[in-house]
Amino acid sequence: MNTCDLVVIGGGIVGLTIAREWLLRYPKSDVVVLEKERNSLAHGSGRNSGVVHSGIYYPEGSLRAQLCVSGCQLMRKYVTEQGLWIDRCGKLLVPPSESAFESMQILVDRGRANGVEIHQLTGKEALELEPRINPQFDRALFVPITSVVDPREVVDRIKKDVIKAGGVIRYNTAAGSIDSQCGIVQTSVGTFESAKIVNAAGLFADKIAKRAGLKTRYSFQPFKGKYWKHKNIHFKMRRLVYPVPDLDLPFLGVHTAHNSNGEVYFGPSSTPVIGRENYQGLQGISWLDGLSLSASLVKKFFQNTNGLRTLAIREMKLVRLKGVCNELSKIVSGVGPDDLERSLAKVGIRSQMFDQNGQHLVNDFVVVQDDKTIHILNAISPAFTASFAFARYVLDQQK
Ligand SMILES: Cc1cc2nc3c(=O)[nH]c(=O)nc-3n(C[C@H](O)[C@H](O)[C@H](O)COP(=O)(O)OP(=O)(O)OC[C@H]3O[C@@H](n4cnc5c(N)ncnc54)[C@H](O)[C@@H]3O)c2cc1C
Repeated sequence: MNTCDLVVIGGGIVGLTIAREWLLRYPKSDVVVLEKERNSLAHGSGRNSGVVHSGIYYPEGSLRAQLCVSGCQLMRKYVTEQGLWIDRCGKLLVPPSESAFESMQILVDRGRANGVEIHQLTGKEALELEPRINPQFDRALFVPITSVVDPREVVDRIKKDVIKAGGVIRYNTAAGSIDSQCGIVQTSVGTFESAKIVNAAGLFADKIAKRAGLKTRYSFQPFKGKYWKHKNIHFKMRRLVYPVPDLDLPFLGVHTAHNSNGEVYFGPSSTPVIGRENYQGLQGISWLDGLSLSASLVKKFFQNTNGLRTLAIREMKLVRLKGVCNELSKIVSGVGPDDLERSLAKVGIRSQMFDQNGQHLVNDFVVVQDDKTIHILNAISPAFTASFAFARYVLDQQK
């Protein structure tokens, strides 16, 4: 039996920042992070757009608004202090249709309520900031604080912080059953007894919670995000360009994303899938889990719950490169099917929960404390941006 003060299940950015924050608060304590993969980048934390979001999307008072706004500041500070790559490029939001005008106003109001600088621009002003956009309705929004970082570099540095502060990260170690009352976690390499357990298992957080005996109104509905890469390395974007999104859904729409190598990507899609780690083909589908996810997906599709049928039909258009370019042409000009290729390496899956009582996709982070365990459910975007603030919040909550 290994005895410690804190066991974190999941060594992605959420688990690692919590371990780091705990060690900052209690420097002499024993902290163990259990991670089933051989590194911290196998899932969401290594497969995202690396965008440090501002917080304009989320309603005032929501956990996402609060933690994104403060997390954005903390992430920018951390990356700057550590000398890591950051592009302080800002973000343009372009309405893909006239029906997005109402959402634009909501974003302006939300941004201001959340204390985020946001500008309403004419098409000409927006083109001066990014000549490649298509301001077809002569209007756009600009959020200067949004930036891009290298998520893999950031996660790697946080991992080093944890180890330097005395934390132990056990890779290739999967958490199995949990006794939350006694603080016991069984793993593939032995048993851990801990005063506190944090479940930060991302795509498996709901499963871990269930094993720990937590009853919730949430079920799991994973969504895959595919990206397309611009083949020409000399194709550059000065700013991030996003569509004004459908605010009823927790997805931001197909947007531009660039990285420290100067590569430009477009994505991600938001396709409902039946495997939690189904990045390619039939990989990552557990048949029992897959059957239950399929049954619930079919039901949601036919009932068009929360607009999921509409979303699925929209996503089907992205199967062909022409469809991707049609979608992109609403916000960016001059990108055709010959310019793009599917990126097989850059594909992620969102840890999205579905509220069975309200029959809708859960639109906020969910943190539930039960006995000795704190469960982090629905660590969807912008959990990467929010991670440092999220860690403080989670530890402030503990009873
Ligand atoms: C396509 C896409 C694009 C995104 N873009 C952005 C963005 O630009 N900006 C932003 O802020 N956010 C973005 N996000 C969201 C962000 O990536 C995630 O919210 C964040 O990475 C979640 O981190 P995590 O640590 O909870 O999850 P993960 O990185 O998935 O970590 C959870 C870890 O738990 C481990 N685990 C699971 N089960 C067990 C077990 N039984 N025992 C031990 N370990 C276990 C897993 O192996 C995994 O490594 C994006 C997400 C996706 C999918």
